[in-house]
Parts: sequence; C-alpha cells; structure tokens
Amino acid sequence: MKPFDYLIVGAGFAGSVLAERLATQDNKKVLIIDKRNHIAGNAFDFYDDNGILIHKYGPHIFHTNSAEVFDYLSQFTSWRPYQHRVQAQVDGQLVPMPINLDTINKLYGLNLNALEVNDFLASLAEPREHIRTSEDVVVSKVGRELYEKFFRGYTRKQWGCDPSELDASVTARVPTRTNRDDRYFTDTYQAMPLQGYTRMFENILNHPNIKIMVNTDYREIINYVAFKEIIYTGPVDEYFDYCYGKLPYRSLDFKFETHDKAVYQPAPVINYPNDNAYTRVTEFKYLTGQEHRKTSIVYEFPKAEGDPYYPVPRPENGLLYKKYKALADATEKVYFAGRLGTYKYYNMDQVVAQALTLYRKISHGSSSTKENLPLVTFSPGFKKTEVPTTLVATSADYQSGKAFDKLMEEPLQVNKHGLTNGSHNGNGHPQHPTDTAN
Ligand code: FAD
Ligand code: UDP
Repeated sequence: MKPFDYLIVGAGFAGSVLAERLATQDNKKVLIIDKRNHIAGNAFDFYDDNGILIHKYGPHIFHTNSAEVFDYLSQFTSWRPYQHRVQAQVDGQLVPMPINLDTINKLYGLNLNALEVNDFLASLAEPREHIRTSEDVVVSKVGRELYEKFFRGYTRKQWGCDPSELDASVTARVPTRTNRDDRYFTDTYQAMPLQGYTRMFENILNHPNIKIMVNTDYREIINYVAFKEIIYTGPVDEYFDYCYGKLPYRSLDFKFETHDKAVYQPAPVINYPNDNAYTRVTEFKYLTGQEHRKTSIVYEFPKAEGDPYYPVPRPENGLLYKKYKALADATEKVYFAGRLGTYKYYNMDQVVAQALTLYRKISHGSSSTKENLPLVTFSPGFKKTEVPTTLVATSADYQSGKAFDKLMEEPLQVNKHGLTNGSHNGNGHPQHPTDTAN
C-alpha cells in the first residue's frame, strides 16, 4: 500500500489551504479529515430550512490587508464587496460601534465636531504608563465611563473574566474614532465569498490528489491509514493528551431564529454590552446580500465548556501554550497550524497567511516545480474606497483600484439559491480613513 504524503487533521482554513498547496504545487497525495460532518471548519455556511444562507458557527466576515491572501482565495471564489457595520445598544439606544463622533454625540446629546470630540475623549481618558491589559487599552483612550458602557460588560460575558485580566490585544481589535466612519473594519479588502464559504472550500479542495473524510476523528483512523507526515489543526493541548493541563478556550451557544419579515434589525450586528446573556445578534442577509422574504438571525451566548472557539489571550495561558509549543516543535513529522493548533486568536486571513507560510517551510527544498509565491506581508493602513454592495469584484479589480467603475458595467451574478445583491444594506456612507486603533 502506498502511503499518503500527508494526513491533514481539520478541514478548516488552515488544513484546507495546506492541502491545496501541497496537492497542486508539490503533487503530494493528501488525506484531509474532519471530525465534523462537513468541510470549512468554523467558516461553514449552509442554507437553513427556509433557504436562507447562514453561518453555523457565528458570523464570519472576511477582511484583510494582505493582497497575497486575497489573491490566493480569489482563485476559488468571486466576491461580494461588503463593509461590515455594528451598532451597540447602550443606555437604551442604538449607537455606532466602534465608538466614533456620532456615538458620542448621540449618547451625550451633543453636537461636537471631530476636533471637539477628540478633546472630549482626551478629557475623559485616564493616562496609563503601561498598556498591558484590555482595560488599560480602553480606559487610557476613552476613560472609565465609556469603558463601562461599551467594553466591560461585553468582555466579561464573552471571556468570563474581567478586561483587566485579558491581554491588551483583545480590546485593541476595536478602534476608537473621532470621525464619522462607522465601518467595523478598515482593511483594504473587505468582501464575502459570493456563493458562501462552503462553496469556496469545495473549490479549494477540488483536486484529484486530495481525498476528504468527514465524520472522522483522526484517532479513529490513525492506525488504519498509511501516511508520511501529519498536519494537525485541532487543539494543540488535546493532541498531547493535556499532559501539561488544559489550555482554556471560550465556547459559544448559538441560537438561530427565522422571522417572517424581510428585515429584522437596523444593522448587520447589534452588540449588547450590558443587557441580556447574549453578546450580539447577527442578521445574515446583510452579510450575504441574499434577498428573501424571511430573515434568519443568530444570538451568541458565551460559555466556558463546549467546542473550543476562542483561545483566551492571558499571560498565564501564553506561558502554558509555550510548553506545548516546545513539545510540538520537538515532535517530528507533525506540523501544527491554525487557531487551535497554535493557540492564536487569529482571524481567517491570518490563518490563511500562516498556512501559506507553513506550506513554504514544509515545501522548502522539494524538487517539484512550484510557483514562486511572495512572502506574506500585511500592508498597513487604508487604501481602498468603498464599493457598493450590489457589485461583484475580482482580485484584479481591487488591485487596479478601479473596482467601482469597472464593475458598474458588469452584470450581477445570481446563483440558483437566489443570491443576488445586498441593496437593502444602504451602505452609502462617506469614508474617513483616519482610523485610530486603540
Ligand atoms: P477551524 O476552522 O476551527 O478548523 C479546525 C478543524 O479541525 C475543525 O473543523 C475541527 O472539527 C477539526 N478537528 C479538531 N480536532 C479534530 C480531530 N481530533 N479529528 C478530526 N478533526 C478535528 N474570522 C474572521 O476573519 N472574521 C470573522 O468575522 C470571524 N468571526 C468569527 C466568529 C466566531 C463565532 C468564531 C468562533 C470565529 C470567528 N472568526 C472570524 C475566526 C475564524 O473562525 C478562524 O480564524 C478560522 O476559521 C480558523 O480556521 P482553522 O482552520 O484554524 O480552525
Ligand atoms: N468588545 C467589547 N464590546 C464590543 C465589541 C467588542 O467589549 O461592543 C471587546 C470584547 O472583549 C471582544 C473584543 O473586544 O471580545 C474583540 O471584539 P471583536 O468584535 O473583534 O470580537 P470577535 O468578532 O472576534 O468575537
């Protein structure tokens, strides 16, 4: 029996990108398995009983500053340009989140301009010599009152601990703005796979060198299948039978509802920092652009036990992970990747970038011909202007900076499920690229 070159555990972004690279560039024979009954990992989406495209593991919005990552994925999907927006329910009203000029004016009944709001926030801010925790990040920027209104309760719900016990990197994901930009992200590339994530994964894995097994825990087959090396994208502590103890992960319960109306809420996501046991409610049609007379939403209820979704960025967890990392580095013929395999609070694009980098490392010195991929770099800052949500963009359109003009001439792409455009989103807001990250 000829062995597979690689057994890849986990068919999420990390495992699937590595499978694709090794199969197509190095002619390796790959078996990719997942213990779930589907590919795509946490990005899995599907049409619910009402025919509405939903994300099984919570809202997944693609955004990146990496041209390489965007170009790479563009081989497997067309895109629907989408700029994400979030509102928070605070003091009984909905206000833009991240905190911006309009948030402050609405919350306090003021009419400040950008300069005045800058001074206003500076007057509230509590200077901190060292920014170590997620509390330091916010309080040093906007002061204690806004921290308590927007961050403290949400973070305690989401992470099961106080922001003062979490690394600064967690709340630093959310910027503060003094302009009126109400987008959640300002990355150069912001778009959703036109026909969904699962379809994109089907295309990534569609190669004769790649065999797929779902409903399969790797421990069930490891003694029955011949392979040369493993790529493991499950939880790293589980791989080593928790020999140093459990790495903490946060989990979520998802509660899905379908409503007999076209639109349920006034924004794609509404955050509930202080009210309710759930953190946020997402209405999927905003994300996917699907037109349907009904609408599906999801509530997220954080919890400690259950499927591991979020590594918990705290100093002691970082130290524990280091011990597992040393073990992983010393384990021959096994490579660890992904959010769980490397215990990193990574977004999808970061996992793709990590997988492309690992591929280059694994493949280094291989005699087969392969394309000369550039190193992954995240281009800093904001570049692109907003593209209407009704259009379909390719990677080249983004690159040329002419996405808008060119796409205006192109017909909309419609799939058999009726996925067309997101005109109900009303994304006509002006952009202000002066983002101030926390
Ligand atoms: P996963 O997608 O978790 O894949 C790992 C796979 O390994 C899983 O399918 C699992 O079943 C399988 N596996 C584990 N153990 C075994 C085993 N023993 N045997 C076989 N298979 C096994 N990122 C963004 O960029 N934008 C977003 O908006 C966004 N929203 C998110 C919302 C939520 C609620 C969550 C939880 C995450 C979100 N993310 C988002 C992050 C995104 O989900 C991850 O970055 C990405 O999916 C990680 O890919 P991965 O391959 O590392 O892991
Ligand atoms: N956060 C918060 N209030 C909000 C939004 C975010 O306190 O309204 C904090 C919270 O700790 C959250 C973190 O900022 O976990 C990062 O937010 P993000 O939206 O990036 O979280 P994710 O989408 O990864 O769940």
